[in-house]
Amino acid sequence: MSIRFDGRVAIVTGAGVGLGRSHALGLAARGAKVVVNDLGVGRDGAGQSSEAADAVVAEIEAMGGEAFAHGADVSDEAAVEDMVAQAVDRWGRVDIAVNNAGILLDKTFGKMEMRAFAKVVDVHLIGSANVAHACWPHMRAQKYGRIVLTSSASGLYGNFGQSNYGAAKAAMLGLMNVLHMEGARDGIRVNTLAPTAATRMTADLLPEAAQELLAPETITPGLLVLVSEDAPSQMIMGAGAGSYAETRIYETRGITLMDEDNTPEAVAARLNDIRDPQDQEQLGDAFGQTRKYALSAAKARGLK
Ligand code: NAD
Repeated sequence: MSIRFDGRVAIVTGAGVGLGRSHALGLAARGAKVVVNDLGVGRDGAGQSSEAADAVVAEIEAMGGEAFAHGADVSDEAAVEDMVAQAVDRWGRVDIAVNNAGILLDKTFGKMEMRAFAKVVDVHLIGSANVAHACWPHMRAQKYGRIVLTSSASGLYGNFGQSNYGAAKAAMLGLMNVLHMEGARDGIRVNTLAPTAATRMTADLLPEAAQELLAPETITPGLLVLVSEDAPSQMIMGAGAGSYAETRIYETRGITLMDEDNTPEAVAARLNDIRDPQDQEQLGDAFGQTRKYALSAAKARGLK
């Protein structure tokens, strides 16, 4: 079965260049009507232009597709609401939201101004929440929605000089987990993409040979699956150069100390046991942890 998006309406943020452009073209090539959102800023968020988004719309129209450009700054709630309203006015629905817009303001933490920290969180986290929030009532009403958040290895694993970006990208997981739960009954599925691509964002970091292998187009097939009819939900998909993998969060089995033994010294003495990965498991939700600890404490005391 081929994956198609005929009759679906998609919004792709930051779709003028790089990964967003590739995602927008990939969706349009398989039948989606696409809102090509882009503020047209530099890598650091400075400037503004509609040129890149207009060029992507022209590319989509040249292949016989339908698209319009919208220059909303994703961190501006009113502008995002206007964009979603325009999509719904024109095409009657909004099925897919690909949150991809992003900027970098790298500095080691000691040298970083908190303004730069907040700005990066604003674009990545608040921007993604703004888009999801504006789409939410439409997706709930039509009992169908696909939302992707874009994280990064920087958020999942850490990267020197990116405390703002890493924090914002890790926050995508928290947003995904809760939207996945709240959206499930209305047919809304929410996933996270953790790409690694050669774009202007990584232009000075990658050798030329790696840049060719890591073209944005090598990632878009994975994104298309995450927003397809049969999409999974709550998946963190790593993608780049044709490789795909899933990142998962596990909790170790851990230990339980009785009150008289529950001292910092005892915890320190058992750190290796606490961190032992044998029998680690994925917890289904926040109460999974509460349940596990309360049950362990009760069991240690011989209670039922
Ligand atoms: P890019 O810099 O090539 O493109 C980002 C686009 O977002 C630009 O067109 C820019 O104008 C737009 N944008 C920025 N701020 C915006 C705002 N406030 N409102 C609307 N549009 C805005 O970046 P890219 O490399 O294609 O990255 C796309 C996404 O993937 C980003 O979220 C990035 O953090 C993430 N990512 C990229 C990589 C990588 O290797 N390139 C790795 C991990 C994560």
